[in-house]
This record gives sequence, structure tokens and C-alpha cells, in this order.
Amino acid sequence: MLRNKKYVLDFSDLQYKQIRLPWKKKFMHVILWFAASVIVATIYGTFFENVFGSPKEKLLSQQIENLKLQYSLIGRELDNSVASLNSLRLSDDKRYRPILDMDSVPESYRKAGHGGVDRYRDLSGYQNSDMLISYKSKIDEIKSMATVQNESFKSITERSVEWKREIDHFPGISPVSVKFRLGDGLKWRTVHPVLGIGRMHNGQDFDVPYGTDVYATGNGSVIESGYNSGGFGNCIVIDHGYGFQTVYGHLSDIKVVKGQNVKRGDIIGISGSTGLSSGPHLHYQIEQFGAHKNPINFFNNDVSTEEYNEMIQAFESKSKLR
Ligand SMILES: [Zn+2]
Repeated sequence: MLRNKKYVLDFSDLQYKQIRLPWKKKFMHVILWFAASVIVATIYGTFFENVFGSPKEKLLSQQIENLKLQYSLIGRELDNSVASLNSLRLSDDKRYRPILDMDSVPESYRKAGHGGVDRYRDLSGYQNSDMLISYKSKIDEIKSMATVQNESFKSITERSVEWKREIDHFPGISPVSVKFRLGDGLKWRTVHPVLGIGRMHNGQDFDVPYGTDVYATGNGSVIESGYNSGGFGNCIVIDHGYGFQTVYGHLSDIKVVKGQNVKRGDIIGISGSTGLSSGPHLHYQIEQFGAHKNPINFFNNDVSTEEYNEMIQAFESKSKLR
């Protein structure tokens, strides 16, 4: 535009004459045009930046949005971890501990290490402090829950190992495996089959044929092995620990010696009819802390439900008869 020539009408001769500006004025024109352009460009630029933001800002705000999204995903993962630990805790308190006869972990112990006013002071005062503090406290909660849970499972493991030992020692099976007929149970016998007088029968008789294998009913050590002059004839006594002892009487043969350790199911003797006995049978008795227990309440899975019910019925009918 500046290059265009300018003309003005000269009324004296009605001719258009070219205007020739001095170079100073021309220079001023250039400066003014330039300044005007800069001002207009600045105004436009500011307007668009304010409304739409600069490309750099756009990139940054996009990155911030991405970060926020990633943080919220991490937050969700943290929530999931808390939920998983809570379900472990439920199994711990409602399943494992009751089965093993253990008390629940006290709430005060589980909550230990939580809270504290100035715990997150270092994180406060920033634009995203609330978010950071909430995540940090969740991480702390997870750490504390995992530590307590780990300790709890350790004690459950220890208890279950001890329990397994206890169960192995418990006199929990029948001392004979042949199809047996139950003889007299734990009761007062008005007429002893041999003595003919009233006498307490402190165990359970198994009417098994002569020569039947007799098993240790739980792990333990033999504390008596030999002839018993009290009436049991060839007799074995096993101490199972935990207050339990079992007695096996009227044996024809003894396969263990005093002091020997035995495991459940080991053959310890052979049935017979030694001592005060009117015919071949095994006398079996269980004592717990010195008190006689009814052996038929101690049989475990080695008999079927039908067999067990038959035994109970047989025991009850025999008890009613005498
Ligand atoms: Zn008996």
C-alpha cells in the first residue's frame, strides 16, 4: 500500500498531481503502520490465548488431566487392596480363629498406628494436598493392615500345627478294624461276668474273635505293657498327652514295650481273653485327666454313619436293659 503512488486533484489546472512526501514523513508512516500492526496482533494474540490457551498450556493441562486420571486409577487400586485385606480379615476372624478356638485380634491392635494430627504435615499446603494426604493415608492403612494380618496368620499357623499334633494324639479311632459286635459299655455292671458281683465297667468291650489286631487309637507313648493283676490280663496303657490315656485289656499278645512311642493305627497287640474274662474280647478304656470317658463318643471317621448309629443304639439299649 505504501508503495502505491498518491495523487491529488489540482483545481488550478484540473490535473491529478502525484504527491511526493518527504522521506521523513514516509519513515513515520512506516513506523506508525508497524506499531499499529503490532498492537492489533498483540490484542488478537491475548484474546485467543485467554479464550483458547497457548499450545504449550494446552499440552500441560492435558498432561495434568492425564495425571489426575492416573492418580484416580491408583486410588481405585488402593481401595481394592483395602477391600482384599478386609476380606482376609473377615476370614481370619469369622472362619480360621473360631475353628481353632482362638480369640479375634483386638480392634485396638488392628487400629494401632493409624491417625495422628501432624502425620501428614509435610504434604499439606500444596494445591493437591487433600488428594496426596488421602492416598498416603490409604497406603499407611494398607501397610498396617498387612502387617497385622501377617502376624495373625503366623499365630494361626502355629496354632494349627499345635492342633494337628493334638488331633494326632487324640484317641480318635476304634482300636479294632474288623466288623465287631459291641460288648458292654461304660456303665455299672450289676453282675460281673466272671466275678458275679456288681462292679463298674470303665470302658467299652469289643466282642472280636481271638487273634484280632489291636491298634493304638492315637499317637502317644506306652506307659504300661505286661500282665495286669487287677483283671485286665495282658494289658497296654498308652499316654497320649493332653490328659488322655487309653487302656487295652485281655490281650493274647503284646507287641510294644514300656517307653515305646506309638502312632495312631500301629498294631500294639493281639486280642485274647487273659485276666478276668469270660470269652475273647478287647476291653478298651479312655481316661481324660483321670476321669473315665465313654469310648464310643471318641470314634472318628473310621466307622460309617450307619455303623456309628448302630453302635449308639446298641449302647443305649444295653444301658436301658441293666
Ligand atoms: Zn471290659
